[in-house]
Amino acid sequence: MFDSLSDRLGGVFDKLRGRGALKEQDVRDAMREVRIALLEADVALPVVRRFVDQVTEKAIGQSVLRSVTPGQQVVKIVNDAIVEMLGGDTTPELDLNAAPPVVIMMVGLQGSGKTTSTAKIAKLLKEKQGKKAMMASLDVNRPAAQEQLKVLGEQVGVATLPIIPGQQPTEIATRAMQAAKLQAIDVLLLDTAGRLHVDQQLMDEMKAVAEISRPQETLLVVDSLTGQDAVNVAQSFAGEVELTGVVLTRMDGDARGGAALSMRAVTGKPIKFAGTGEKMDAIEVFHPSRVANRILGMGDVVSLVEKAAEAVKVEDAEALAKRMEQGKFDMNDLRMQLKQMQSMGGLGMLAGMMPGMKKAKAAMAASNMDDKVLVRMDAIIGSMTPKERTNPALLNAKRKIRVAKGSGTQVQDVNKLLKMHMEMSKAMKQIKKMGGLKGLAAMFG
Ligand code: GDP
Ligand code: MG
Repeated sequence: MFDSLSDRLGGVFDKLRGRGALKEQDVRDAMREVRIALLEADVALPVVRRFVDQVTEKAIGQSVLRSVTPGQQVVKIVNDAIVEMLGGDTTPELDLNAAPPVVIMMVGLQGSGKTTSTAKIAKLLKEKQGKKAMMASLDVNRPAAQEQLKVLGEQVGVATLPIIPGQQPTEIATRAMQAAKLQAIDVLLLDTAGRLHVDQQLMDEMKAVAEISRPQETLLVVDSLTGQDAVNVAQSFAGEVELTGVVLTRMDGDARGGAALSMRAVTGKPIKFAGTGEKMDAIEVFHPSRVANRILGMGDVVSLVEKAAEAVKVEDAEALAKRMEQGKFDMNDLRMQLKQMQSMGGLGMLAGMMPGMKKAKAAMAASNMDDKVLVRMDAIIGSMTPKERTNPALLNAKRKIRVAKGSGTQVQDVNKLLKMHMEMSKAMKQIKKMGGLKGLAAMFG
């Protein structure tokens, strides 16, 4: 058994649990493990390389959320990058905006699942979109290939073009177009001949069929178990015809789904459907996030990080909103802010999110702020009276000496804290000016 990605990343990141931003070397170490995970999921090597480079750049400097480990944070970043690369949260639909009969041409290697997917999609179009569909098999290479489609057509209740033995694919395509026009068919699905390997004769045939039928959609059907070879397959087909999308079959199998990433990277086209079994309704619109989970095997980690991010956002936004509504930012607020910073693992995140925080951050840096300093600042605030906390202007020289003594610090430490507080309350006022809650929500969004 392989170690899970989180075990591996756990090892890499154990030493920096709870620290602030992701450092370059740490990210690179983590990416080595991510790379292995992607290769194990059968993402093609050149795609892995490109992907890892892009994500590394994105991850460096990102802050680690409270209550998650840096390793978990990296998993989330990688997950998001996969989802984004696979098309985000949008579900790509078939483009049927053309004069009928709208043609969908299915292409791919032999055994990839073209004929099965053709019938599945025809069924979807009929049942979900009320389309009048027709299917035609152009596969004259494999004996009984045309009969196979006919049988499936009967199963799903979609007409198939009558078989005339001895016809060439281009002849069948021409006949299918005529029949579809005559019968006022909305969508004509062309199931082309498969090929064992990419071979020029069949490629030429495919192009000739495309000339005749002018497909609105040309879907490359790929077996998700194809693995490393997926890139070659996709490249050869994409080089010959204008693909519009991909159908990924056998997602019910034990493939980790890496082919999805490879296909998308090489063709640049959306994956429109996922085949999930041999039955005629075993087809789904493609869900990038599910596949990302599958590739990384990290669904739990991803939702954990999402929840943590959500919690931080809500808490921070609420606390800040309250302060702003009251139009003040006193020592109690500062104390709370310092605690949050500490548990978030540093100042980077907050300062990065809030314009106007730069000066405050500089003041903090000038005071050489680290965990010990945070504790000391907490002690200083703890030594103030409640009145001083809500109204720091009360702190004259005499009171400062008392506070310094009480907290075991120097008067200059107290002064540094007061300066920082002043910068921060300025920053808070600036936020209020910038549109208050709305502006804030946008920043946190
Ligand atoms: P073609 O040569 O590209 O037309 O491939 P076929 O459509 O004939 O499919 C080859 C085999 O794969 C058949 O036995 C199908 O039932 C099976 N198949 C196709 N799609 C899927 C799928 O999504 N999941 C599973 N488990 N089997 C599939
Ligand atoms: Mg077939």
